[in-house]
Amino acid sequence: MLEIRNIVCRYGKVTALKGISLTVPQNKLVALIGANGAGKSTTLRSISGLVPPVSGQILFKGVDITRASPARILSLGIAHCPEGRRVFPHMTVAENLAMGSYLRRDRAAVETDLERTFEQFPRLAERRRQVAGTLSGGEQQMLAIGRAMMSRPSLILFDEPSLGLAPNIVERTFEIICGIRDSGTTVLMVEQNAYSALEMCDYAYLLETGSMALEGPGEQMISNPHVREAYLGGG
Ligand code: ATP
Repeated sequence: MLEIRNIVCRYGKVTALKGISLTVPQNKLVALIGANGAGKSTTLRSISGLVPPVSGQILFKGVDITRASPARILSLGIAHCPEGRRVFPHMTVAENLAMGSYLRRDRAAVETDLERTFEQFPRLAERRRQVAGTLSGGEQQMLAIGRAMMSRPSLILFDEPSLGLAPNIVERTFEIICGIRDSGTTVLMVEQNAYSALEMCDYAYLLETGSMALEGPGEQMISNPHVREAYLGGG
């Protein structure tokens, strides 16, 4: 579904991605792990059009999106759930969710999806008229996920979904992400929490300072000595 071929991304003189390739097959959950600053967020930003690669190619369902605009990429079916959730703090829960569907023209279906989101996240339904900035971290995470799903994406990108959340909310967030994959939306997830990411994914990639160091099915990565030593606390 998504194919990245040898992309290079720069911020001024800093080369954040030095020619990486990865594939996300349809209906799979692919994890991207690595240390701080390895280039994980940049990979997601390059896919959603926020940091266009200077070379290489990104194909989505066979369409070249390497230099497409973020709006075009969203309209093709890729949603980005950013690091730190980034809900619109002064807008209500319902308004935030509406923002997720702003490119859609099928208004009746949008209403149905909105109601479905409220069924899935009853806490959001109770707070639909509350401004998002007053929600707890966990509620904001649910809102960010709900908002991303409101565009009816076929691929959803998650950047550090567990960051800054209480352990029970982290668990719930991972369950929701697995549920999204199980219901037919393809997932590419960046996670610092390497063990959980490897446990839940179908396939994983390890980024180290802008280059792909290793890849394989999650269980294979968990038993890899280098991964154990550097990312899973040894042992
Ligand atoms: P983190 O988990 O800390 O976000 P990451 O693996 O997602 O780490 P990136 O955020 O993709 O890493 O950063 C990759 C490299 O690019 C780092 O060296 C970082 O300092 C640099 N970088 C990221 N964003 C910018 C920016 N806006 N301007 C300049 N350099 C940047």
